[in-house]
Amino acid sequence: MSQEPIKLGKRESKLRVDPKWADVCLTCGTCAGGCPVTGVDGMDPRKAVRMAALGLDDELINSRFPWVCTLCGRCERACPMGVEILAMMRTARGLRERDKVPGPIHKGTMMSMERGNNLGIPYDDWLFLLADMSKEMEDEGFPGFYVPVDKVGARVISTVNSKEPFGEPDDMKFWWKIYYAAHESWTVSSENWEGVTWGLFGGDDESMKEQARRVLENARKVKAEVLLLPE
Ligand code: SF4
Ligand code: SF4
Repeated sequence: MSQEPIKLGKRESKLRVDPKWADVCLTCGTCAGGCPVTGVDGMDPRKAVRMAALGLDDELINSRFPWVCTLCGRCERACPMGVEILAMMRTARGLRERDKVPGPIHKGTMMSMERGNNLGIPYDDWLFLLADMSKEMEDEGFPGFYVPVDKVGARVISTVNSKEPFGEPDDMKFWWKIYYAAHESWTVSSENWEGVTWGLFGGDDESMKEQARRVLENARKVKAEVLLLPE
């Protein structure tokens, strides 16, 4: 860590943090006490608040804190002074240069924008998998089972976490068996069926809105009453 003294100056906070936080925050540590990841990679929400209040925006944006944070919001709910820690963490994520976003979150978001799901599963492969697994379900003791795709009038539209068709397709059967047993009227979409909005986790508001819009459009198209999200 640099040993240079920290120079504070009056300036706009990139994190849209209210400068009053420096006085408002009691440094009581309630946020840190309730945070499930306090201590992971030195994570401490109280320190993050202090960094933001002192104008150390870039240091916070480029730190591990916003990415170790799970965005669960416990700190914000517990804070006796109403400091908006969750919003600050997510804003910090959004301000990280996109090519420096850790892990697959940004790449998955871009893939979803281009192909309708985070892992880029092609349209034909998706439909083939659903047909193939429908046969498996029949063989496993669910006579007449099939996955209804784009079924207009279905009561429930079910989105899918792309890691399931990609790597754990049998996990989709848990939902399917419930629908079958309940004689539910349900459907999945042939396109833009991804239910995990990585734009939300990456702090990418534009992509998040577009991903949500597509899912809602699918629900409206089939006139579904219930939209089911896996996460
Ligand atoms: S809980 Fe609120 S007041 Fe207490 S240290 Fe955290 S941010 Fe500051
Ligand atoms: S939102 Fe982040 S900082 Fe706050 S409690 Fe959850 S993991 Fe910790």
